[in-house]
Amino acid sequence: MEKITVAAARKPESIGKVVKLQGWVRTRRDSKGGFSFIELNDGSCQGNVQIIAAAELPNYESVVKHLHTGASVTIEGEVKASPAAKQPTEVHAQRVELIGDADPETYPLQKKGHSFEFLREIAHLRPRTNTFGAVTRLRHQVSMSIHQFFHERGFYYIHTPIITSSDCEGAGALFRVTTLDPEAIPKVNGQVDYTQDFFGKPAYLTVSGQLQGEAYACALGKIYTFGPTFRAENSNTPRHLAEFWMVEPEMAFYELSDNMELAEAFLKRIIADALQYCGEDLKFFAERLENNQGLFDKLENVLNKPFQRLPYTEAVDILLRSGRSWEFPVAWGNDLQSEHERYLAEQHFRCPVILYDYPRTLKPFYMKVNDDGRTVRAMDVLVPGVGEIIGGSQREDRLDILEQRMQEQGLNPEGYQWYCDLRRYGTVPHSGFGLGLERTILFLSGLSNIRDVIPFPRTPGHAAF
Ligand code: ATP
Ligand code: MN
Repeated sequence: MEKITVAAARKPESIGKVVKLQGWVRTRRDSKGGFSFIELNDGSCQGNVQIIAAAELPNYESVVKHLHTGASVTIEGEVKASPAAKQPTEVHAQRVELIGDADPETYPLQKKGHSFEFLREIAHLRPRTNTFGAVTRLRHQVSMSIHQFFHERGFYYIHTPIITSSDCEGAGALFRVTTLDPEAIPKVNGQVDYTQDFFGKPAYLTVSGQLQGEAYACALGKIYTFGPTFRAENSNTPRHLAEFWMVEPEMAFYELSDNMELAEAFLKRIIADALQYCGEDLKFFAERLENNQGLFDKLENVLNKPFQRLPYTEAVDILLRSGRSWEFPVAWGNDLQSEHERYLAEQHFRCPVILYDYPRTLKPFYMKVNDDGRTVRAMDVLVPGVGEIIGGSQREDRLDILEQRMQEQGLNPEGYQWYCDLRRYGTVPHSGFGLGLERTILFLSGLSNIRDVIPFPRTPGHAAF
């Protein structure tokens, strides 16, 4: 007997086959006609398959009539065309086996809807809900699209380190990695004696694989990294995690405009694939989440229109002229906040916006200084509903200016000699960017809290599971 998934059992091609299915009971309903309906799900798709279990089954009274929501079962039976309009098929059970029961008194996922807040507290069981099944399948698809997009374009996937000793650009607050005993820190002249630590010096969890990625781009041409990234920033927002996944392509012989083109093609590919392969899950998000009916219009619109490109300075002018009052004041030289980014993408342009040429004081040392001396070749991609989804730049390829910028930002050039070597020997114009995977899932799904698009979120005060 062929073992198939619920997704396969729901397809008309399976009609007439006798198959084996394994999964979890979503609901059971007993009909007066002397049989039961079991809604079975195994995570393979959004929909359930309806099992019809007749009273003639030998364990009908002893087992079938006591199947609870959450119980795991094996079903053998024939796939038939369903008379009901809401599903193409149903399975007429010839055998129902209970594998593991779920006590209805304590199983937390009963039929009624649960709040996202509550589900975060049971993050080990929430993948069994419709919403988190959909998020998980979408996240998988996006991850595959990322690899395929770059692979097809000749990029190499590079595994950059997770533990680093360079404090990388000061991109965010760092988590320390140490084997020193906090109760007995060794000290010399009142200072921590790092020679006794595991690496013999301070070490951290990476905030970005970019610097190491550049070394490989400046040898293999086009590379990308895709891995976990850590920032100890104490920002309790719906868009920040302490541990998130970032994709960072880096390309030799790429100017900022090439970088923008790639970022746009990349995002569009991710959207197109999500629409093609996750339609059922996106439909679920559009129908079930509040204020999300416009999801497909939003995605199609982003897919089909060119992104707006605009220098930071012009964006500041637009914001100043908007007549709005902002929580964070707008002025040339101030960083743009989420409210500003979202105004530009959602109200003003109503499409993704690529802002570029930011004030040099706002951006890290490695971004290429423009001829005006005041701005750097940075670019941020802002999308409706989320704000910044990508941050990138053309990198400074001139050794003297790079060193000057490090000084300006109070960095110790000693730790960056290897990075400077990339300019010392065979320097090339090169560019790259970072895309946050979770922000991408927020954008694609219309979910509003980043804690709900990663399996086990880590945020200030929370590292459960
Ligand atoms: P923000 O200004 O939103 O805090 P950032 O400018 O610090 O972000 P970058 O250093 O440019 O972020 O990182 C590149 C991308 O990584 C961002 O555009 C975003 O998609 C994602 N990202 C950055 N920080 C976080 C975080 N704490 N949680 C989730 N995603 C993040
Ligand atoms: Mn950024």
